[in-house]
Amino acid sequence: MEKEVELLEKDGVVQDFKKYIMAFKLKNNFDLRLMNTSVSHIEDDANVLGRTTSAGNITLSKEIPDSHVKSVIKHELGHVDDVKSGALAWDDDNFYWKGKKYNKEEWQGRKDAPWEAKANKESGTNYGR
Ligand SMILES: [Zn+2]
Repeated sequence: MEKEVELLEKDGVVQDFKKYIMAFKLKNNFDLRLMNTSVSHIEDDANVLGRTTSAGNITLSKEIPDSHVKSVIKHELGHVDDVKSGALAWDDDNFYWKGKKYNKEEWQGRKDAPWEAKANKESGTNYGR
């Protein structure tokens, strides 16, 4: 594997790819995590702009204002990371965060839930969902 990378680097392929990603990120401010995460618009509760599904995809409310799309996706990508790593999960009754159980009735929609605090900190948002 290392040898392959060496060969590729010699050919300038890896270098070019790194440069390409950097340019792509700078130009589009695009998050590469979106390449394997679907984002779709759905009918949702009036007060919910975005959600992460248990499969690690993102849904946006059909009513989401354009001005909020970027920040909501940024925030939800924090949850996508945590769902995919196994740090965050939920069922009908509970959230499970890093092995600890949080009752849904008590913790749903709270900005001080540890998984929300983390997503908010990473994305500069202030959402409770
Ligand atoms: Zn959230």
